[in-house]
Amino acid sequence: MGDTTMTDPPTYPQPAVELADFVEEYLYGCSPAPGCGVCAALAKELAVARAAREYSRAYDAAAEIRNHPHAPARAER
Ligand SMILES: [Zn+2]
Repeated sequence: MGDTTMTDPPTYPQPAVELADFVEEYLYGCSPAPGCGVCAALAKELAVARAAREYSRAYDAAAEIRNHPHAPARAER
């Protein structure tokens, strides 16, 4: 009995640099509030961590910036 299994691994094109940029923006994208000392410090931490390739630390810093509460100057309501 011919037991033929097709083991041809499909080849996918590797993600382009554009995707890496998108992922970076997704992971580390954040907008520090102007005039906020905490956000400024976190933004600096984020830059330092990324430069040092400490990605988990960079992600944490970006997440903190995103989650930092501020006065609802232009909150949606
Ligand atoms: Zn802040």
